Amino acid sequence: MSDQFKGIELVWLTETDLTNLNAGEGGTNIVDVKKFRKQGVEYPYVSGQAMRFYLRESVRRELPESTFMCTPNDKGETCGDISKCWNCDLFGFMTTIRGTGAVTRVSPVKVSPAIGLLPLDDNSTIDFLTRKKRVEAGEKAKGDIVNVELGVNIYKCGISIDVQRIGYEEEVDQDSKVLKFVDKLNNNGAERNLRIRSVVSGIKYLADYSKQARLLTDFTPDVILGAVQQRYSHRLQKAFEIDNNKNLNIERFKSIINDMKGYGTIYFGLLPGLLNNEQQVKKIAAELELEVLQPQEVFEKIINSIG
Ligand SMILES: [Zn+2]
Repeated sequence: MSDQFKGIELVWLTETDLTNLNAGEGGTNIVDVKKFRKQGVEYPYVSGQAMRFYLRESVRRELPESTFMCTPNDKGETCGDISKCWNCDLFGFMTTIRGTGAVTRVSPVKVSPAIGLLPLDDNSTIDFLTRKKRVEAGEKAKGDIVNVELGVNIYKCGISIDVQRIGYEEEVDQDSKVLKFVDKLNNNGAERNLRIRSVVSGIKYLADYSKQARLLTDFTPDVILGAVQQRYSHRLQKAFEIDNNKNLNIERFKSIINDMKGYGTIYFGLLPGLLNNEQQVKKIAAELELEVLQPQEVFEKIINSIG
């Protein structure tokens, strides 16, 4: 990737069937969904921490041979070696290194929570399942009933990759006391590009969410915008807003694309049948000179531009 690229952003909408992707606090016999309240109405969400976990597991599944991703120890600490470890480089860490003390790395891969855009009340149900209890040998097996809150919804998710931080570590020059970025990879960017590509393609294959044995959810993008940017920003994240009838806010969409055209190449993908005002969205896309692609093609375009 050319040095002038500073960021890659993706924002997407995904429609789920009945699912519970991230449990809330619940109670003894209820597994609810995580939810937030906006103007008195409840919506479901999946925390940023859960989304990072899903993405990390997706990258781990496709890890090329001879590359390495550590797993945290019992204190949640990771290895901290960004030249070798994709986990520590891409997702950051807070760890204690012998002789150095506590070291923190801010994650160059930033993930948003997945926000449900349709009210929970109109789009959820309570299902129940039997939870088996562990019993002593010889005792009769017992189970108790657990209620599980499930919902359908359209979620908005996003990711921003701080391209120029991948494979780089901040170090203070001992003589001048100036903060420098030191390249820890030293192979003309090939390894860096491989790591960036793995994150983008990780989104394409997200699958390791909770409770999948019973729920089999597809949480990959249905409507997506992707940008390869000469400036680092999070602007694209605001491009999608929908009302309760699944109409995309056209003015908002237009305004964000126009904002970003000056410093980024933008790709747009749309799976038919999700947005109510799909025809209008296509018309606006044409006016904005955005080709309407399949969501998968947006990933291909971005991965190809990484090099
Ligand atoms: Zn590590």
